[in-house]
Amino acid sequence: MSASTIKKAKKLVETSGVKKIDDDLYQIKSSSDPDKSYFVTSDSCECPGFKNFYKFHHGKGLKANCSHLEAVRIFKKEE
Ligand SMILES: [Zn+2]
Repeated sequence: MSASTIKKAKKLVETSGVKKIDDDLYQIKSSSDPDKSYFVTSDSCECPGFKNFYKFHHGKGLKANCSHLEAVRIFKKEE
């Protein structure tokens, strides 16, 4: 995972961009567009980056990741 993904994720948590909606359901602000937000669980996200990851790497046994998924991980650790 890239360092910039982690950096973005930390920033999202620090700026209260992560909101817990339900068990394993989070609403996370888009870092590029503050008016936008994505619904994220511990292993899926609806952002284009996550969807494209599977489009490009499908079947290679890789797990998709994005700054939102990473933000949920950090958020849970700090809870
Ligand atoms: Zn995402």
